[in-house]
Amino acid sequence: MNYTSTRSTSKNYVSAAMAIKNGLADDGGLYMPTEIPKLTEKDIESLKNMGYAERAAFIMSKFLSEYSYEELLFDCENAYSEERFPGGAAPIKNIDGNVYSLELWHGPTCAFKDMALQIMPRLLSRALEKTDEKRTALILVATSGDTGKAALEGYKDVDRIKIKVFYPVDGVSRVQKLQMATQEGSNVDVCAIEGNFDDAQNGVKAIFGDTDFSRELNEKGTFLSSANSINWGRLVPQVVYYVSAYCDMLKNNELSYGEKIDVCVPTGNFGNIFAAYIAKLMNIPINKLICASNKNNILTDFLKSGTYDRNRSFYTTISPSMDILISSNLERLLYLVCGSEKTALYMKELKENGKYTLAEEDFAKIKENFFGYYCDEENTKNTIKYTFENHGYLIDTHTAVGYSCALQYLKETDSKTKIILASTASPFKFASDVYQAISGKAPKNELSALNELSEISNEPIPKPLDKIGERKIRFSDVCKPSDMKKTVLEFSQK
Ligand SMILES: *Cc1c(COP(=O)(O)O)cnc(C)c1O
Repeated sequence: MNYTSTRSTSKNYVSAAMAIKNGLADDGGLYMPTEIPKLTEKDIESLKNMGYAERAAFIMSKFLSEYSYEELLFDCENAYSEERFPGGAAPIKNIDGNVYSLELWHGPTCAFKDMALQIMPRLLSRALEKTDEKRTALILVATSGDTGKAALEGYKDVDRIKIKVFYPVDGVSRVQKLQMATQEGSNVDVCAIEGNFDDAQNGVKAIFGDTDFSRELNEKGTFLSSANSINWGRLVPQVVYYVSAYCDMLKNNELSYGEKIDVCVPTGNFGNIFAAYIAKLMNIPINKLICASNKNNILTDFLKSGTYDRNRSFYTTISPSMDILISSNLERLLYLVCGSEKTALYMKELKENGKYTLAEEDFAKIKENFFGYYCDEENTKNTIKYTFENHGYLIDTHTAVGYSCALQYLKETDSKTKIILASTASPFKFASDVYQAISGKAPKNELSALNELSEISNEPIPKPLDKIGERKIRFSDVCKPSDMKKTVLEFSQK
C-alpha cells in the first residue's frame, strides 16, 4: 500500500512507515493511502469473533503493508491490554431508543485519543527501524487538551523519541492542565502558549514548514515528527473502533447483517469522523455521518453552505477539545472527493483568504454522506442533565454536544436507523462542568468536583484522574507563540 500527499499530482509515493515517520508531506499536504482496502462479508464474519486487539491488527495490516500481522498483533495486544483499558477498549452501550454510546475513554488518559496514541508510538518505533533511520525523532504536538496528555502518556520513555507539547494557557480545563503538568518520563516536555489552540497549531505547523530549522536540527541528529491527527498513524487506529462497534452490535444481535447504521461524532479537527468515513469506504454499512460541533460551528456552516470560512470569532467553550477553526483533516475528505489538484487550490484559498467555496459537484458528494449540526453551551449543559436524569447515563461535555446533535438529526429526519454516538471523553475529565450541569451549583473548586461528581452520580473516579491534585508539578513554563521555535531547539539539545 502506497501513500501520497493530498496536494501532490506527481506519483511520488511513500511507504506507510515513511508516512508515519514524516507526519506531514513536504508540500504541506496530508498523507493518504492510494486506495482504501475493502472488507468482505467473510472478513466481517471473522472479525465478529475476535477480541479488540485482533480486530485492530487485522484492520491496520490492510493499510500498513510493511508491518507484518504478527508485529501488529504483538503491539496491539500490549496497547489495548486489560491493564491499559480496564473493562475493554471500546465498549458500546445503549443510551435510549436507537442511540448507542461507543465509549472510547477507558484508556490511560480518559479520552478517545488514547485509542490511537497507545498504539502509534509503537508504529513509529518500528517505522524508524523499517526506514533505517538513525536520528532521534522529536514529536511536536499542539493540543486543545486531550491529545497532549494522550501523546505524552503514549510516548513517555520510548527509545530514540522525544516529545514536546504546546497547549493554550487558558484553553484547557484544570484537570487537563494538571494531567500534562504532572507528566512523568525522561523524554517529555510541556509548555503553555499565550494564545488559543489555533495559535499553538499554527506555531507547530510553522516550525514543521521551516526548512532552515529542520536543517539545523538535522545536523544535531534530530528530525521532527507529529502526533496530531494530521499523522496517518493517528487515523488508522481510529478506523478500528467503528468496525469493532459494528461487529459488537452484530454479535449482540442489535443489528442484522448488512443493516445500516448512522454515526455521530463530536468533531474538532475532523480526524475521528474521517476515520468513520474510512470505515464506510471499507464496506462497513454506515449510512450517514453526523458531524457535531459546539459553538465554534464552522463545520456546521460548511456542511450547510459549501463555504468554509474561518473569518469569524473563536469561542472558548466547555467542550475545549472541539474549539477549533481550522479542521485539518477536512483536507483528506476533499482529496477523496475531488482529487489533489483541486484540494491544493482550495487549501491555497484558505491560506490566502481564510475561506473557500466548493464547486457544486464537490459539495454534492460531501452532502451525500455528511450532515452537520451544532450545540451551544446552554444546550450542552441541558443535554448532560437530561441524559443523566432520564437515562441514568453520565456523559461529558463533548459527548453531550454529540448527543444533542444526534437528537436534532433524529427530529429533523425522522430516521429509524440506529446511531452510534462516539463518546469521546470520561465525564470525570470535565468534572466541574458536568457536576454543575447536573446539580445546578458550582463545585467547591475544579478538583473537588471529581469527588462531588462521584458522589452525586454514584460512579467511581477513574484511576488515572484520582488524586491528581496531589501529584508533583513538573512543567509550568508559559511562552509566547513567537518563542516556540526557541524552546524546541533548547529541548532538542537536552
Ligand atoms: C479531540 C477530541 C474531539 C475532537 O476529535 P477530532 O478528531 O479532532 O475531530 C472530541 N472530543 C474529545 C473529548 C476530544 O479529545
